[in-house]
Amino acid sequence: MKKNLVVQIIAAFILAIIVGVIFGEKASVVQPLGDLFLRLIKFIIVPLILSSLVVGVTSAGDINQLGRLGGKTISYYLITTFIAIIIGLLAGFIFQPGTGTGLTLDGAKVDAKETEGVIATFLNIIPTNPIEAMTNGAVLQIIFFAIFLGIGITVVGEKAKPVQVFFEGFAEVMYKITSMIMVLVPLGVFGLLAPVVGSYGASVLLPLMKVIMAMVVACIVHVGITYTIAVKTLGKMSPIRFFKGIFPAASVAFSTCSSSGTLPITMKNVQENLGISNKTSSFVLPLGATINMDGTAIYQGIAVMFVAQYFGINLTFSQILMVVLVGTLASIGAAGVPGAGLIMLTMTLAAVNLPLEGIALVAGIDRILDMFRTSVNVIGDTSCCVVVEPVKHGEDSAAS
Ligand code: ASP
Repeated sequence: MKKNLVVQIIAAFILAIIVGVIFGEKASVVQPLGDLFLRLIKFIIVPLILSSLVVGVTSAGDINQLGRLGGKTISYYLITTFIAIIIGLLAGFIFQPGTGTGLTLDGAKVDAKETEGVIATFLNIIPTNPIEAMTNGAVLQIIFFAIFLGIGITVVGEKAKPVQVFFEGFAEVMYKITSMIMVLVPLGVFGLLAPVVGSYGASVLLPLMKVIMAMVVACIVHVGITYTIAVKTLGKMSPIRFFKGIFPAASVAFSTCSSSGTLPITMKNVQENLGISNKTSSFVLPLGATINMDGTAIYQGIAVMFVAQYFGINLTFSQILMVVLVGTLASIGAAGVPGAGLIMLTMTLAAVNLPLEGIALVAGIDRILDMFRTSVNVIGDTSCCVVVEPVKHGEDSAAS
């Protein structure tokens, strides 16, 4: 069944490309299939994040253990994001995507939203009303509420047991619903990708081919080197088993461009294919889907280099440092939804005084870049699970 799913997903990819190339814009007739799948995975997100994170926190046992798990998780997320942005900057330096594009900015308008200030962004994590946070799908606020709920349950102890049991059962139900929806992954991948392939013509792609190349290469380097080393040395797992196991989640990320949307599938893959405990995955993954975005960080690095090169601006060393810092914050602050990274780019460009109009240049191909960065975002989260919960000696070879 599992093997079948991987084969079906690969077939869906190939079919989507064929249909997109042959039918062009008309391939959008299959979009409803993609939307059907998207809605099905989206409707579980809010209850899933809430229940699984409460379970994740309560199953840590005590506050000290939770602190250790949280500390390891956040450290891994920060370090890999830092590496990612450096790789992005290097790729931008090597590929020089902003030179010789032949693009002009005439009439280009920046419709990227203004981002809030740093203090407001942090304050906003605290919901004034958790129910409202849930109805609005404000993921960071839901996470905040869930973590506190979990801590509260742990501290109260015996009396709060029924609440804990309730959330455990609730989370199980959400996982079950995810299993049911998983069979539709190939259909969703096909329905979402064929229209994308069909709608991009050569005139949009060619001038920005170097940006796409830089992005793809940087993503491959980060996944192939950073994660592979982390999974193998820190997580003691064979990288082949790792990549095979998370392939469905990576493909869903690629076609939906949403790490939050992919979360149910990511959790399933990590638990069932990599043997990661519920305790680890239900803490690490909801958090990662929201704050750990290495693909987005790579993209910030490349995009900054692109804009600087386009306008013929040489970045100083301190500006580069600023990009690393602000780009990391931007990737943390980006929501796990399509196009979030593009909006956060405003913040990074503004921090080093680069013209915001540059965003308009890459906006046309953002969907394509988003597919790659979202896949990396999701793979990064799964690698963290393996790193904080290394496979026990001997188990790996037996299972793969
Ligand atoms: N779409 C990305 C994600 O969901 C965020 C981004 O746009 O960079 O992970």
